[in-house]
Amino acid sequence: MHAISSVTSFSGFIMGNLRRHQRRDHPVPTDEDVRRPKVWCLGHPFERRFCRHGLRSKAVVDGENIVISAIELTRALLAFDTCNPPGLEAESGRYLAHLLEMNGFVVETQDFAPHRLNIIARLDGSDADAAPLVLTGHLDTVPLGAAPWSRDPFNGELSDGRLYGRGVSDMKAGVAAMACAAIRFARGPRLRRGLVLVFTSGEETGCIGALAFANAARPLVHRASAMLVGEPTANRISTAHKGCVAVKAHTTGITAHSSMPEKGENAIYAAAQAVARIAGHVPAGRVDPLLGCATINVGMITGGLNYNSVPDAAEFTVDVRTVPGMDHDMVHASLADLLGNAVRLERFVDMPPVGTAADHRFVGVLRDIVADVFGSDANLEPLPIPFFSDASVFQPLWRCPTIIIGPGEPSQAHQTDEWCEAEAIPMAVEIYARTIAAWCDHTD
Ligand SMILES: [Zn+2]
Repeated sequence: MHAISSVTSFSGFIMGNLRRHQRRDHPVPTDEDVRRPKVWCLGHPFERRFCRHGLRSKAVVDGENIVISAIELTRALLAFDTCNPPGLEAESGRYLAHLLEMNGFVVETQDFAPHRLNIIARLDGSDADAAPLVLTGHLDTVPLGAAPWSRDPFNGELSDGRLYGRGVSDMKAGVAAMACAAIRFARGPRLRRGLVLVFTSGEETGCIGALAFANAARPLVHRASAMLVGEPTANRISTAHKGCVAVKAHTTGITAHSSMPEKGENAIYAAAQAVARIAGHVPAGRVDPLLGCATINVGMITGGLNYNSVPDAAEFTVDVRTVPGMDHDMVHASLADLLGNAVRLERFVDMPPVGTAADHRFVGVLRDIVADVFGSDANLEPLPIPFFSDASVFQPLWRCPTIIIGPGEPSQAHQTDEWCEAEAIPMAVEIYARTIAAWCDHTD
């Protein structure tokens, strides 16, 4: 109880500071405008869940609105173990779906595998011709890892201004901040442009939820005018991230007894010669002003049956990280050229890079808001992101400007004792809420 009341006053302090920077032309409701000191639980299964972790969902009812602070919602999400594998994000997804539904969103769930789902929550705008703004994040986290944790990864421990837990930075704080920002608009004056929240499962193991979303029999979200991705950037703007082409490279040979190697053909030698061509190779392609050039890495190699046979099969993996403007079919073709006819390639990851022109109007909107919320221009230098995200699946679908921005600490993603600066979470709510106000009310 003590920790929770200190969180409330702490976020109240932050919000007070933020409001002083608020611009007059974007009327953005704040949590505090509607908050009342009454605690409400989100329902029996959830209550039981939080009791197990010594936590309760601290939500507040105001008329029909249910308001929960983004820090408390992050802690609530941390209490769900969504380590992937196996994932099992359904329970946390249903919790979020319930919260959004109670606040007036039209929520659809896409159950694409047992205990795995995507959540699509909509708030229609007044102008049916205007494509909505999409806010997206993922519910799963990477596993805890082999090293022991010094904090409970599922208890949302708050200490020295940092919130600890598996996935707090990557990216439960981002998901919570998006939900809280969107909830502010749910029962207020109608936005001109609609708002869609897309929360996915299975991002950490190759965006499988986003791919299920993209491959659904009917389009789940037809279009988007712009997209925010809440991956960890410490609330800095990123307009681009790398893509990935990963292939399995197979070589074959003829087996024989190892005492008579001249009777066989060694598949490992063929693989080794191909691998040697990759070492030191720089993939051809443009140099991106933010991300630099593409990279290549051989991550795994296997082959042979035993020490006393000539191996007739070997396999290695090649992972090329691409930058915007590179065509993945060309990347594949030039890799095939480099490795020669003796190597058969099989593509198993194909995630395009994500990029938005630095002078796009949506980038300008975000830059103004981020400068305003930070109270300075110090954080406007765009952040290069080497890893890929669900945006690799969504940007080709909607062909919309995309910005990656979230409260999580980028260096903390996948770390033992993962943490997020607590004050970054209400800041992210403010950034998202102002973006919704500015972008969704704007007339083209
Ligand atoms: Zn992530």
